[in-house]
Amino acid sequence: MFRTERENFRKLNSALEVERGRSKAASERDTETIIELRTALEMEREQQQHFYKQQSAAVMHQKMLGEGMGAIEERPEGCHCYDCSRAPT
Ligand SMILES: [Zn+2]
Repeated sequence: MFRTERENFRKLNSALEVERGRSKAASERDTETIIELRTALEMEREQQQHFYKQQSAAVMHQKMLGEGMGAIEERPEGCHCYDCSRAPT
């Protein structure tokens, strides 16, 4: 009887250990997925910010050109408007 209980306890313990390892592996996978998603989101956000920066620089540049102070040498940083993309660098 005592021996059987010990045996059962041992089996239960090893089953628990297997389960623990399995859930640890699953949580590591989740963490990896979360990190990958976060990196992708950050990259997307950076690209958006870069895009908005270019857009607002182009708007500012067009405004400067409209006000007659838009020498191409004075273009806002990061502007990729039509005039700037034609300008020699
Ligand atoms: Zn420009």
